[in-house]
Amino acid sequence: MSATNLLELAPDEIVALVESLGQPAYRGRQLATWVYVKGVGDFRAMTDLPRDLRDELERVASITPPKVAAQRVSQDGSTKLDLRLTDGRTVQAVVMPDGDRLTLCVSTQVGCGFGCAFCLTGTMGLVRSLTAGEIVGQVWAARATLEPGTRLTHVVFMGMGEPLANYVATVKALRILVAPLGFGFSPRRITVSTVGLVRGLERLARENLRVNVAISLHAPTDEVRSQLMPVNRGWGLYDLLAACRRFPLPVRQRMTFEYTLLDKVNDSAEDAQRLVRRLRGLRAKVNLIPFNEWSGSSFRRPTPERILAFQRTLLDAGLTATIRWSKGEDVGAACGQLAS
Ligand code: SAH
Ligand code: SF4
Repeated sequence: MSATNLLELAPDEIVALVESLGQPAYRGRQLATWVYVKGVGDFRAMTDLPRDLRDELERVASITPPKVAAQRVSQDGSTKLDLRLTDGRTVQAVVMPDGDRLTLCVSTQVGCGFGCAFCLTGTMGLVRSLTAGEIVGQVWAARATLEPGTRLTHVVFMGMGEPLANYVATVKALRILVAPLGFGFSPRRITVSTVGLVRGLERLARENLRVNVAISLHAPTDEVRSQLMPVNRGWGLYDLLAACRRFPLPVRQRMTFEYTLLDKVNDSAEDAQRLVRRLRGLRAKVNLIPFNEWSGSSFRRPTPERILAFQRTLLDAGLTATIRWSKGEDVGAACGQLAS
């Protein structure tokens, strides 16, 4: 029997495992604290656990995060990590400092099967989905690379892959991230970005996780959205936005709509007006992402003037709209530049 990777287990499952070894529950809570809260990966260092339990754990369990295979620091201070999984495949995670925030962007799949026209990850197709342990393992591994005294404040599920197409593992990872004996993040500091899977959103709504949700919208009409995002041919904007309206948002929380600006494709003044109309009645904020270019793509980033004009239209209509001047572009770590 192969050893159980504890990073695949939620804290309560770690407690159950320790109980199955004939130990009291509080020993399990101590173990979960070592693994998740303190980030210790060696059973021998867990000095408040009895010796015989540590020996037993060496035999039946492991703490196996993905391995940091490469680490590239960008001029803007963000760091792209290439993380090697146990089967030799790699995914990427990006650490992004911003003022007093330190955000980690994690992947949920190797590649992605949705084939959005502007996304480099999409060109890979779906290789495979990650396990919950491989998702939280990215947080574990990234945390271990940080300078002493610094800590991750936010986690965004915006790396490679579509989180809601890997639903069970994503939700389990979210629960481990927010559990007090897990990573202990406030759900308000976690964001899941989705291409807009209506069924997945409806299911997520019932989990009562209270994490932030970001919807990749990218166009205000079905015609353009279907060209850019094949997923829209199955579920159009009307159904998607209806699901967003039904989504139970906690008080003072808003849904984010991501909109990648593509020169002369979706960035006209009229597009901005249409977007305003589409989002009416939603507790929405818009995150504008100027297209990050990659070789082989025919899309272009709009000029700064066009980007700012688009934002101005949204602001004038009373929407909150921010521009994500991308992080890590020089090391291929910006949105939509991740591939392995
Ligand atoms: N699959 C999820 C999450 C990963 S992508 C989703 O699609 O939401 C994170 C964000 O970056 C998405 O909004 C995506 O559409 C956007 N994006 C992808 N490629 C991009 C590119 N080349 N430039 C700018 N944004 C891009
Ligand atoms: Fe997949 Fe998201 Fe890229 Fe679309 S934008 S191909 S859903 S990772």
